[in-house]
Amino acid sequence: MNGFNAIAIDGPSGVGKSTMAKRLAKSFGFLYVDTGAIYRTLGLACYEAGIDRKDEDAVMELLPTLDIAIRYNEQGEQCMYLNGLDVSRKIREPEISLCASDVSAHPRVRSFLLDMQRKFARENNVIMDGRDIGTVVLPDAELKIFLTASAEVRARRRYNELKEKGSDVSFDEVLRDMILRDEKDTTRAAAPLKKAEDAVELDSGGMSIEETFGRLCEIIINRLAVSPEEKA
Ligand code: C5P
Repeated sequence: MNGFNAIAIDGPSGVGKSTMAKRLAKSFGFLYVDTGAIYRTLGLACYEAGIDRKDEDAVMELLPTLDIAIRYNEQGEQCMYLNGLDVSRKIREPEISLCASDVSAHPRVRSFLLDMQRKFARENNVIMDGRDIGTVVLPDAELKIFLTASAEVRARRRYNELKEKGSDVSFDEVLRDMILRDEKDTTRAAAPLKKAEDAVELDSGGMSIEETFGRLCEIIINRLAVSPEEKA
């Protein structure tokens, strides 16, 4: 529509959206935008300020006082800044995931952050991942993908990742957290996680990372006039 292509990738927590979107963006030469990182940064700000993140008024009072920025480093990776400080690592802490989920449930918070997300798609070819990209943020995206896998599969993958990083969490804890976030994200009134009607659904449950990546490349090549070779 504006001369740029937008690919929306939505799906539940831990389904591998960011792993896929990052790799696809690199192959096709698109800008990757991880929108969950924005909610995580706000969640962290509320956590640090000791604000009740379930209180929409309190969060809305804090929000305009914050400087939340997305910047890309030399490797092209998305980094999140909160009031000038790089918080890219801090926002990945497990307790911040739940804070992000809480703040993202507020409708006024979501509309406040909409333009920040849309701006990228006005100025670049983007692959954007989140929960409401195909339904709300970029409803006119040229391609929408809805990635799924059962909570058990997603929890197992996340658990293995955390274990590798030396975390001592239990599988049950990870699964509980996954189910809780799914519940919050799908049942909230504002922009709940759901498949856009025109999205292509892909269940990655029984597929390896390589298989999922290959299938997504095929979908992109078939639907958009782009190829990884030309753009890489
Ligand atoms: O994707 P990620 O797990 O980093 O997102 C953190 C939280 O932010 C999610 O649990 C979800 O509640 C929220 N989120 C959202 N809308 C998006 C992206 C993330 O509500 N577009």
